[in-house]
Amino acid sequence: MLNYFLPSDYAKSIYDINIDKLLEKGIKGIITDLDNTLIEWDRPEATPELIEWFKMLEEKGLLVTIISNNNQERVGTFSKPLKLPFIYDAKKPMTKAFKQAISDMGIAYSETAVIGDQLITDVLGGNRAGLHTILVSPVTTSDGFWTKFNRRIERFILGKMRKRGLIFWEDKHE
Ligand SMILES: [Mg+2]
Repeated sequence: MLNYFLPSDYAKSIYDINIDKLLEKGIKGIITDLDNTLIEWDRPEATPELIEWFKMLEEKGLLVTIISNNNQERVGTFSKPLKLPFIYDAKKPMTKAFKQAISDMGIAYSETAVIGDQLITDVLGGNRAGLHTILVSPVTTSDGFWTKFNRRIERFILGKMRKRGLIFWEDKHE
């Protein structure tokens, strides 16, 4: 059960993810979370640094889809200026949105990586769909109401993982 919450990999931030390593693994598309993964949950638009990062992914030939449990207005306002496909109200950790994104990108499950800051939505959802999951530390320590609730459960799971020696990443994801 705990293994379902275990990411395939960990990076301190999206900018620390080794993209060339993903390409070597045969990854062709990235499904990424939005809030506290790409930018702060209360920041409406992409930062210049983030825009550069997406540009770099595109140059390397990677497809990107944003999937978020947040609403249409939030996810659309962020994604549309970047011309990135997105799915809102994704209901992660349900796997439906992940499957939809993969089908829309026209790639295989084994060619898809998931990036997110939450174990119980992004990592659990990605793992349930059988995808390569990458946990990042949240970009801010403040959270919206539901995320605060999720984090409490997450801390409980992390405590269990720690006891079993499952945590292989820096112990700062809290
Ligand atoms: Mg998030």
